[in-house]
Amino acid sequence: MDTTSRQLFEKAQAVIPGGVNSPVRACHNVDSQPLFIAEAHGCHLTDVDGRQYIDFVLSWGPMILGHDEPSVTRAVCDAAHRGTSYGAPCPDEVKLAEAVVAAMPSLEMVRMVNSGTEATMSALRLARAVTKRDKVLKFVGCYHGHADPFLAAAGSGLATFSIPGTPGVPAAVVADTLLAPYNDLDAVKECFARHGESIAAIIVEPVAANMGLVLPKPGFLEGLRAICDQHQSLLIFDEVITGFRAAFGGAQARFKVDPDLTTFGKIIGGGLPVGAFGGKRRFMELIAPRGGVYQAGTLSGNPLAMAAGLATLGILKKSDYAALEDRTRAFAFSLRDIITSKGVPLQMPTLASMFCPYFSEHEVTDFASAQKCDQKLFTSFYKQMRAQGIYLAPSGYETGMVSFAHTDDDFSRALDAARKVLF
Ligand code: PMP
Repeated sequence: MDTTSRQLFEKAQAVIPGGVNSPVRACHNVDSQPLFIAEAHGCHLTDVDGRQYIDFVLSWGPMILGHDEPSVTRAVCDAAHRGTSYGAPCPDEVKLAEAVVAAMPSLEMVRMVNSGTEATMSALRLARAVTKRDKVLKFVGCYHGHADPFLAAAGSGLATFSIPGTPGVPAAVVADTLLAPYNDLDAVKECFARHGESIAAIIVEPVAANMGLVLPKPGFLEGLRAICDQHQSLLIFDEVITGFRAAFGGAQARFKVDPDLTTFGKIIGGGLPVGAFGGKRRFMELIAPRGGVYQAGTLSGNPLAMAAGLATLGILKKSDYAALEDRTRAFAFSLRDIITSKGVPLQMPTLASMFCPYFSEHEVTDFASAQKCDQKLFTSFYKQMRAQGIYLAPSGYETGMVSFAHTDDDFSRALDAARKVLF
């Protein structure tokens, strides 16, 4: 079983650090090895050993329409026939920018980049330039990519591997990163009482999806908005996961809170490497070449990525998000009931097409409570589900994802697998 994946992983480890190009893929925290994927269609993955899996990772979010969605694939192939990169503007860049701007009232302009990391890094640079201040407040357990200033108490892979920060980041760079627990407005107020005059921005995942799935408490996002207004700091929503997933208009539409700047990635690239950051014209016009804030990219606005993003957003605009949310909740709650009926404590927060099994008796509201979950139980669940062809994120700190391609049959097969799990 998994012979070819094993062989490839051995070869990979000789030439790629840890055998993977992004840490959580290694699966060693869940006592497993990575599957090497041969192909993917809809919500089904096939690995190089010919085994099929129902995919609840969806490339960590982008594949909300499922893999190889015919019109997205066609758009990418058509674009490839017209050349893969020009280093000059192309029509689809304008169309995708218009589509993203039209989706959210807080946006008047966007700049395309190549990843979520680039988006958050550039948004922070812009916020610092706008306010002429250096400090940024982030929340413990939120992940904003791997740019230096955000690698303090971050979620995702750093949480999975209990890496508090990382060697290679100068202390001086993270000295300007202030931390507060998620959902804790009092801590934010305290921070502003001390440093308010030097805080350029608060950056937040409006729904925290890199420490499992932590929903904002009622009033939390509104509170951040008010504090930023009071202190003339910018509010940055990192919607790399939630953009076009929490709702078509992102978490900002869902919670009706307008940030000053928003970052995107994942879905807006339809599975190709893309990120974007945007906001009001008066801020965005400070970006070069209109303004002096430098930001650039050889492959930014890449025609293949723009075509994939446009095709994806075109379909999503007409898609029934409410129905997908209902189906996700029904599935997640059935999964919860199956596990709790075995006497195992479980929390199952859901939002839109995201769900997260937390093996805990207590509600999870921040990183400290997420860390109290039983990772041994999670590992056992993960391994037994995977052995039955159900592909979940290999970490208790990641969010489960559902796509428009998941059918009732996919859900019931996943639930049948859960019934057979022994704890
Ligand atoms: N912000 C958030 C909220 C993310 O979830 C991620 C990646 N999972 C990033 C930023 C970084 O994006 P990328 O991996 O594309 O650099």
